[in-house]
Amino acid sequence: MIFKEFGTTGKKVSAIGFGGMRFPKDKKGYNYDYCAEMIHEANRLGINYFDTAPFYNDDKSEEIFGNAFKNMPDTFYVSTKSAARKGSELRKSLEKSLIRLNVEKINFFHVWCVMDMDDYKQRMATDGPYEELLKAKSEGLVEHICISTHCTGDEIAEIASKQKFDGILLGYNITNYKYRQAGIKAAFKNNIAVVTMNPLGGGLIPDNPNYFSYIKNETDTDVLQAAIRFNASHKEITVVLTGMDSIEHVRENCNNLDFSEDYVKNTITRIDSYTKESHDSLCTGCRYCEYCPEEIPVSKFMLAYNKMILGDAAALKDNIKYHWRIPPELVDKCIECGLCEQKCTQHIPIIDRLKSISAFYK
Ligand code: SF4
Ligand code: SF4
Repeated sequence: MIFKEFGTTGKKVSAIGFGGMRFPKDKKGYNYDYCAEMIHEANRLGINYFDTAPFYNDDKSEEIFGNAFKNMPDTFYVSTKSAARKGSELRKSLEKSLIRLNVEKINFFHVWCVMDMDDYKQRMATDGPYEELLKAKSEGLVEHICISTHCTGDEIAEIASKQKFDGILLGYNITNYKYRQAGIKAAFKNNIAVVTMNPLGGGLIPDNPNYFSYIKNETDTDVLQAAIRFNASHKEITVVLTGMDSIEHVRENCNNLDFSEDYVKNTITRIDSYTKESHDSLCTGCRYCEYCPEEIPVSKFMLAYNKMILGDAAALKDNIKYHWRIPPELVDKCIECGLCEQKCTQHIPIIDRLKSISAFYK
């Protein structure tokens, strides 16, 4: 296992983190004992960063970890989150997490899912969630305050420059990295740890191995491994979170970091040279197209449309219904003002794609 400094906290964390959102479930529900075996095996293999949140795995993820934390084989750190908009709500959420996780303090507590700078200001307001976390820190209930965000690279850079957080958690992968790079570089410059989630592009990469075959070099087993290694190759990235759903998967993930210094040096340049041409038709999730006057969640529809481009049209409906949970008829509200297309970093024909989605449903 490779260990990296978590910013200026003095903690050394494993370069692969255990993402607690994919615990296996059968007809009887979650098998807490098996999940504990997964977590213990990960810890034995060197993983010491465990990430969870309320609502993951039908709101059971924190409890699953709490059960495993009763007898961990080695040192571990826990990360959880709260999307509260008010200080009092955050306090309740923190207290609930402490009980469910069976710990006396949360090592990395995240102001969760900050969508844009207005949202950021609300979380940082007087008596808001951030100030509540400062209080909790002074009481010893929280060790390090972090932020989890879907902001653009430039917005993340602005947040990093304010130096309010010890760590930044963000979605980063081969399909969106160019639009987040400014953020991770600014975090690195400000000695803030970066934890990345979604290294597989929401399953887009492993589900489309032929399309993404160029990301693999001769030492990569498959595109999944190449995608995880891509994130881990960045000096700016401290932890790559990956969801794990079996003990075998835990072991495979730990092997993914077994690569040479040369691999690290060459991989970003190699992938950079391809992505200039390869991703021009895929939505990267950068969200520069937000603020539609008709309040259409453009980026969500465009991310779902990626499935269509990659040849899995049926998955588009599932993605809209179960992942994004947005009513498909919203696409019909488009007045074709063109604002989103003007801002789109990929020059995607958004209006035409919205019409295609509408036609697909009809
Ligand atoms: S073109 Fe349609 S989707 Fe784009 S901003 Fe205008 S109304 Fe919204
Ligand atoms: S549609 Fe364009 S601007 Fe919007 S998220 Fe996708 S790539 Fe970014």
